[in-house]
Amino acid sequence: MSLNNLFKMIHNQEETNSPSILPKIEQFYLKKANDRNYDVIMEKMTRFHPSSVGYNPVCPRKYSIIMNRDDFGAKLRLADPHKTSLLRVFDHGHMIHDMYQNDILAKAGCLYGKWINKDNQNMVVEGFYPGERWEYKEPRMKWPEKRMSGYVDGIVFIDGKWYVLEIKSSNSNSFKYIKSVSKFPRDYHVKQAMLYCFAPNDLEECGEIEGAIILYVNKETGEEMDFFVKKDMSIIYPILSDIQVAIEAANTKSLPDRLEDCKTPRSKIAKECVACDFCFGGKV
Ligand code: SF4
Repeated sequence: MSLNNLFKMIHNQEETNSPSILPKIEQFYLKKANDRNYDVIMEKMTRFHPSSVGYNPVCPRKYSIIMNRDDFGAKLRLADPHKTSLLRVFDHGHMIHDMYQNDILAKAGCLYGKWINKDNQNMVVEGFYPGERWEYKEPRMKWPEKRMSGYVDGIVFIDGKWYVLEIKSSNSNSFKYIKSVSKFPRDYHVKQAMLYCFAPNDLEECGEIEGAIILYVNKETGEEMDFFVKKDMSIIYPILSDIQVAIEAANTKSLPDRLEDCKTPRSKIAKECVACDFCFGGKV
């Protein structure tokens, strides 16, 4: 798919006989897409990440297969590399995060966390924005007993209270839907933010978290809207209990039932599951 894009671009360039920078950009993203470290991918699979468990249901069967793949003789099916078009979307999202973290909210004085000195990466301070030449280090969230880890977009301090900040860039359609129709953040964004509220983070002086502020930014217009979600364990309780079942299944080398949504290997979740072949083809 991406290679096709590259060939098309080169072909167009030859046809028009005019210089173009596009093949260079596509080459950059192709290299990035294929630059994958198998060990890192495998290591990530052994942990739960708030953004993925907020979006897709936790499958204890899948986790047990991943953790016991050698004992079960299970071959995992690694996902294809991301499409280069998707990598561009990620990069644009990162730029928006960077703008709010290192410019807007840093200089507004409400973003709290660790800051790395750009001239000396070993110099790290905790607090509010120390000034030019300092870059925000997203707070690390680690919840070992839940085998969960991730990075929070930010911790903010507003009117004497502490909040987890989640920044979501969205296209105009999605932004308008949330603003005028649902009038509530996406369910999976709320779950992700709540996991960050309850998980331990690596900040020493941060006070008790009151809840999450989910900031949506319209990528096309720059418009913003935000929602406050009070810290509430009941929102993430089902996820945490599924994780507990998954950990127990992995520890006892058992194979729990398939997810209700995985009726066949062609079900939406199954098609994207690394353990699908063994789940449907292996011993039950
Ligand atoms: S295919 Fe579905 S049920 Fe089977 S392991 Fe994957 S997610 Fe779980």
